Amino acid sequence: MQLIDGAAIAERLCASLAQDVAALTATGLTPRLAVVLVGDDPASEVYVRRKVAKCSQVGIVSQEHRLSRDCLEADLLILVARLNSDPDVHGILVQLPLPPQIDAGKVLQSIKPSKDVDGFHPVNVGRLSTGTGGLVPCTPLGCMMLLDSVIDDYRGLNAVVIGKSNIVGKPVSLLLLERECTVAITHIHTRDLPDIVRRADIVVAAAGSPRLVRGDWIKPGCVVIDVGITRVHQSDGGARLVGDTATEELGHARAATPVPGGVGPMTIACLLANTVKAARSLSDERDRQGHA
Ligand code: NAD
Repeated sequence: MQLIDGAAIAERLCASLAQDVAALTATGLTPRLAVVLVGDDPASEVYVRRKVAKCSQVGIVSQEHRLSRDCLEADLLILVARLNSDPDVHGILVQLPLPPQIDAGKVLQSIKPSKDVDGFHPVNVGRLSTGTGGLVPCTPLGCMMLLDSVIDDYRGLNAVVIGKSNIVGKPVSLLLLERECTVAITHIHTRDLPDIVRRADIVVAAAGSPRLVRGDWIKPGCVVIDVGITRVHQSDGGARLVGDTATEELGHARAATPVPGGVGPMTIACLLANTVKAARSLSDERDRQGHA
């Protein structure tokens, strides 16, 4: 079984993005990402720090905007509106979760679709479902890049996606469908999940249920992408990250991703890729207007 090295693939993507950023910067347009953090959730703080550090690695300028935990929804909407109209900001990311007084859906819908680097705006969701471009959510995009590293021709392959969230399960299912796979989307109420998974040539596990997928669910030659990350406490007081698959039982699979070091590094790399894509779209738009 080939272990798909997400960390290495993400590093290669970042190296290529650094070249794209340098080329854009040479034309006078340095991609810029605005990251909005509300409150002081420790996990969100860590994610934001990682994203900001990765931006500087590839030359993307990042700017952080912090609002207090008890801020009003209106304050956040005003900030997003300001970032929407700032021509120097190409990507806007509002770190989730948001405090309970704020309607996250309303905030995500207020982000200009062309700057929605998380790909959660209904316009981008609609574009994904109709195969008409737009910005694609980062984790599903990363899953596809990992699959691309081992699969050339997807046509007719049976893909089973475990989990139907808007962030991972649904968008990755649409991307697999776009590649002409036959896709089964499964979830907590799916009956006979092991039998459905046994028919799969591709499995994307995004349930958040540690070691849900066992070796005897996987047909020989299957490619397994493990999105799940659960922090499991150990008897020695420590903790470790566990995926949705029993990785050590997947010896007969064609390829599989480890946890950690699989999908995780791709998610941030794809956020940077979306920021560069958003900046490039703006640059192309300016060129078109310049020539009009
Ligand atoms: P979610 O809780 O929103 O959705 C989970 C989905 O899995 C639901 O549709 C649910 O019906 C299904 N599910 C849960 N238990 C199941 C079971 N036993 N059998 C079948 N289906 C089951 O979660 P999410 O946001 O989609 O994230 C899923 C996992 O992926 C989590 O572990 C999360 O931490 C991880 N994640 C990782 C990254 C990354 O960058 N690596 C990014 C996003 C999410």
